[in-house]
Amino acid sequence: MDELLRRLGEVYDLERTAMLLAWDQEVCMSPAGATEHGELRATIERLAHERFVDDRVGELLGDARPRDDIHADTVRVALRDFEKARRVPSDLVAEMARAGAAARTAWMKARELNDFAVFAPALARNLELRRALSACFPEAEHPYDPLLDDYEPGLRTASAGAALERLRDGLVPLIAAAPEIDDSLLHRTYPQAGQRALVHTVLDALGVDDQAWRLDEAEHPFAAAVTVGDIRLTTRYHDDDLESLFSCIHEFGHGLYEQQVDPALARTPLGNGASSAWHESQSRLWENMVGRSPGFWRWCFPHAQAAFPERFGDRTWQEVQRAVNAVRPSLIRVSADEVTYGLHIVLRFELELALIEGALAVDDLPAAWNERTQAYLGLDVPDDCHGVLQDVHWSEGLFGYFPTYALGNIIAGQLWARIADDLPDIDERFAEGDFAPLRVWLAQHVHRHGRRLMGEDLLERVVGGPLDPTPYLGYLEGKLQASAQLMT
Ligand code: ZN
Repeated sequence: MDELLRRLGEVYDLERTAMLLAWDQEVCMSPAGATEHGELRATIERLAHERFVDDRVGELLGDARPRDDIHADTVRVALRDFEKARRVPSDLVAEMARAGAAARTAWMKARELNDFAVFAPALARNLELRRALSACFPEAEHPYDPLLDDYEPGLRTASAGAALERLRDGLVPLIAAAPEIDDSLLHRTYPQAGQRALVHTVLDALGVDDQAWRLDEAEHPFAAAVTVGDIRLTTRYHDDDLESLFSCIHEFGHGLYEQQVDPALARTPLGNGASSAWHESQSRLWENMVGRSPGFWRWCFPHAQAAFPERFGDRTWQEVQRAVNAVRPSLIRVSADEVTYGLHIVLRFELELALIEGALAVDDLPAAWNERTQAYLGLDVPDDCHGVLQDVHWSEGLFGYFPTYALGNIIAGQLWARIADDLPDIDERFAEGDFAPLRVWLAQHVHRHGRRLMGEDLLERVVGGPLDPTPYLGYLEGKLQASAQLMT
């Protein structure tokens, strides 16, 4: 057990070092160093992988004698990861990385030319390799299962698909009936100095302190937990919107999850969030359930007024809160509002599932994309850049990842219903700038477990049931009704 823990600790250290290099690449690397920097990171990632799939680790996992529950969970989770990693030949892993790099280049070229056909052969190759990966797990019920399992350990395609179908069927009529809200206020000039002041005030209140956290700028915002005592958030500032505020709150949710994992799980495979959907449930809960709530805006509004007197000087908190909850179907996922966002994800999930199953040919993908955009969002797609070419994921071979975004929202809805029962005065607390009760609740019910429980077991334990979009749809419906009432 001791040798096993020592070896797993080294793997953990190498993985966190790779994360530190990834952070460095996005935040402060000199562009001239990009190629060699890529080599540094590839070497550390390869070492982490080799150390983990080593024969000796397999022997130790087989012989380990756990002395407590944490040891027992460590062995169980590490064995699952180990067996999965050993089933995929290293040639296939290398080929997927090569094909992914080539496909990323083809995707960028296709975007320049606004022509899907330029990307199609590289996408077909990525798909072929993912089917080969899936074939390494012949016992899987569905060829998509092993791909989804990389992000949602244990979750089956059938369960994810059923939840997403119910989400879709609930969202379409909600969006059709959503009130038209004027949110032009949010699309004016917001000086960056004001944005920086506001995000620091908000992050301070949410629970960020300078001893353990830092905030930097990056092209694509993300959070990196280098260690429990070193949580790094990134954001970006645009002159003409308040995205920086919501992206900071979102990334705070990811960072807090990692910070509040039980410290006894550090340097083991248990010392992370449970899954991608669970992680996204935390970021979305903070971004949307907190950051768009009446209580939050009652507290935040005077700070927003101080940061942007020319914008908010003669406004009320109710006007701003209504504007940040406006619903309007649009073509681009990353700028979609909270309510329509789910349909962007369901569309991608359905299409990638059909591609993996072989039910949809790559050449037919743009037409299928455009047809579903019309069916779900009521919009015509003018060209490939505003449709099938908008996301980077498929070029990088990420199949099985998209659904975790929407599953995260579903889980956030289920948690929020429980939180409303346990903390009935939560909105009042937010109005006082007090976010500690929510942090504590999340630590106790979700964060501290790390990866000790599989996603579905954690959900069962926290909310007493399986994935269920009903609470999330109810939460959205409640907000839309409140917006409609405020207008009359
Ligand atoms: Zn996120």
